[in-house]
Amino acid sequence: MAKVYYEQDGDLKNLAGKTVAIIGYGSQGHAHALNLRDSGVKVIVAERAGDPPRTKAKEAGFEVMEAAEAAQRGDLIVVLIPDPVQAQVYKEAIAPHLGPGKTLVFAHGFNIHFKFIVPPPTVDVIMIAPKCPGHRLRELFTEGVGVPSLLAIEQDASGRAEKTGLAYAKGIGSLKAGVIRTTFKEETETDLFGEQTVLCGGVSALVTTAFETLVEAGYQPEIAYFECLHELKLIVDLIYQGGIKYMRYSVSDTAEYGDYTRGPVVIDARVRETMKKVLADIQSGVFAKEWMDENAKGRKRFLEMRSKASEHLIEKVGSELRKMMPWIQTSKKEATAAQAAARR
Ligand code: NAD
Ligand code: MG
Repeated sequence: MAKVYYEQDGDLKNLAGKTVAIIGYGSQGHAHALNLRDSGVKVIVAERAGDPPRTKAKEAGFEVMEAAEAAQRGDLIVVLIPDPVQAQVYKEAIAPHLGPGKTLVFAHGFNIHFKFIVPPPTVDVIMIAPKCPGHRLRELFTEGVGVPSLLAIEQDASGRAEKTGLAYAKGIGSLKAGVIRTTFKEETETDLFGEQTVLCGGVSALVTTAFETLVEAGYQPEIAYFECLHELKLIVDLIYQGGIKYMRYSVSDTAEYGDYTRGPVVIDARVRETMKKVLADIQSGVFAKEWMDENAKGRKRFLEMRSKASEHLIEKVGSELRKMMPWIQTSKKEATAAQAAARR
């Protein structure tokens, strides 16, 4: 079983007198910065020049600067800019300021594991990856609730990397919930595999294919949308709350019987073999190289796929049907606006 750390395993004293430089005040960055500051840690922030990124961090009362200055001043340099740009910013702004006593911190292992970033052996390299979006990490912290994180140590030049990592985890609130030890390799490969085969790729393809199957068979797209997409949330909520078993307990016996007998027919042995191939491409670095090359070439193919997918019938039908259900919008304000727009 995995090694799990709790509150008593971390001591904020290990960050005393240290400066944490948060590079990138985005989803993760703002949450780490605010939570650490509330925990008594000295935090400085680097953001791109201009509005709104810098303004937000300044309004929150942080000293905001260029990445190079933050990297120079920080004892811990926390890389929370988008993964595809990390290597470039690392090379230009961070690497020149590295040396003994510095700790590089990541929230995802991609660039270190696939060696797009290769830090000098004199620095500590750790990962703290909260298992939720940044905004939720901040929100729950203010309510006194911690979010589980993963901790990994790639380089321990100082012999203190684990102490630093656990103090950091305590500072963002994660030790309250529990911090699971992993490696950069495990976190990176399982993260990519999960998003490709289930969370993003798998679910999108499953939903779209089922929707197309019904529409091609002559059923109304609106009905296909409800059955294959809309109701997915109800099912996922049940699975999230109590596992697959709880979902099966909650649906009808007819649905449960169809689940056991037809699910494995759709997701069959061939799909399992395909999943193994997808995993192999992740492990070998083929996927990572392909994605970084795509970025280097200006993301033309990526943007084409995005635009084509956004024009799919399921999106057109969905945007109409969601107007009938303003309560599914994220805020009351949006809901009211959506309902008003629908009535016009
Ligand atoms: P984000 O896109 O929300 O924010 C990135 C921020 O970096 C932006 O504010 C952007 O203005 C800033 N930025 C871009 N280039 C910069 C530069 N050159 N100098 C300074 N700032 C710059 O990113 P995110 O989703 O918070 O992801 C950050 C890291 O956290 C990634 O490694 C990601 O894999 C990881 N992560 C994200 C989540 C999540 O919930 N979003 C969860 C776990 C891990
Ligand atoms: Mg993930």
